[in-house]
Amino acid sequence: MKKFYQNKKIVITGASSGIGEYLALELARLGAKVILLARREFKLQALAKKIQEQGFQASYYPLNVSDSPQVIEVCEKILKNEGTIDILINNAGIMKLGPFEKLTLNQHETTIQTNLLGSIYLTHAFLPHFQQNNSGHLVFVSSLVGHVNLQNFNTYSATKFALVGLAEGLKTELRGKNIFVHLLCPPATDTPLLENADSAQVDQFRKLPIAQVGNRLIQGIAKKKYLIFCSWDSQLLVWIKRICPRLAEAILAHY
Ligand code: NDP
Repeated sequence: MKKFYQNKKIVITGASSGIGEYLALELARLGAKVILLARREFKLQALAKKIQEQGFQASYYPLNVSDSPQVIEVCEKILKNEGTIDILINNAGIMKLGPFEKLTLNQHETTIQTNLLGSIYLTHAFLPHFQQNNSGHLVFVSSLVGHVNLQNFNTYSATKFALVGLAEGLKTELRGKNIFVHLLCPPATDTPLLENADSAQVDQFRKLPIAQVGNRLIQGIAKKKYLIFCSWDSQLLVWIKRICPRLAEAILAHY
C-alpha cells in the first residue's frame, strides 16, 4: 500500500471531521501529501499541524464546496501551488433527516448543494487536469442509502443516489483512459454526521468504526476497485433489493 500512495497528492474534501479526517491521517502516514479542504479553517489547521508534526506532508485550503466561484478559485490555487494532483476524494457531506415536508426548502437545497453540486464542482475543476495527464483517481463518497432508501432520508438519500449515477456516468465516459472512478457506499458510520442529523432515528443504528470505512476506501483505490461497500450485510441488502425488492422493503421498514 505504501508503494502505491508514496508521494501521491490527494485532495480530500470534508477533511475537518469524521471519515475525511481519518483518510487524511492514514494517507499521509502511507506517504501521500494530503491537501485538506473544508469550511472550518481552525480544524484544518490543527489537522495539518498534527500530520506535519508526525513527519508527514499536508496543506490546507478553507473551502465551501457548495460555492462554485469559490471552488474554481481555490482549485486553481491548488493546481498552481501543489502541481500534479493524483487523487480527488469527494467526501464533504451533510445530513438532515425528517419527514420530507417538515424539512425546510432551504435544508433540502443545502443538502443538494453540498452533497451533489459540491462533488460536481470539484470534479469539474480537477478532471481536465487528470485528462491532461491521462492519470488520476476520482472518488465519490455515496452511501448505502445511495442504493436503498430509509424513511426520513428523502433528499439526503436522493443526493447519494445521484452520486451513484454520476460515478457510473463518469466511469463510462472515462473507459479506456488511465483515470479511475471509485464509489464508496458506507452504511451508518460512527462520525459526527449522525449526531448533527437532528434525528433520534439514527441512535438505534449499528455504526461501523470509521477505520473500517476509511481502510476499505484506501485499499479499494489502490486496487482500482469501482464499487466499494464496507460491510458484507450492506452489500447483501443491495443484492436483495435487486433480486427481491419487496423483501428489501420489509427489512428496511424496521429502520
Ligand atoms: P462528518 O460530519 O464527520 O464530516 C463531514 C465533513 O464535510 C466535515 O469535514 C465538514 O467540514 C464537511 N462539509 C460539510 N459541508 C461542507 C461544505 N459546504 N463545504 C466544505 N466542506 C463541508 O461526516 P462523515 O465523515 O460521516 O461524512 C463524510 C461523508 O460520508 C459524507 O459525504 C457523508 O454523507 C458520507 N457518509 C457518512 C455516513 C455516516 O454514517 N457517517 C454513512 C454513509 C456515507 P466543515 O463543517 O468544516 O465544512
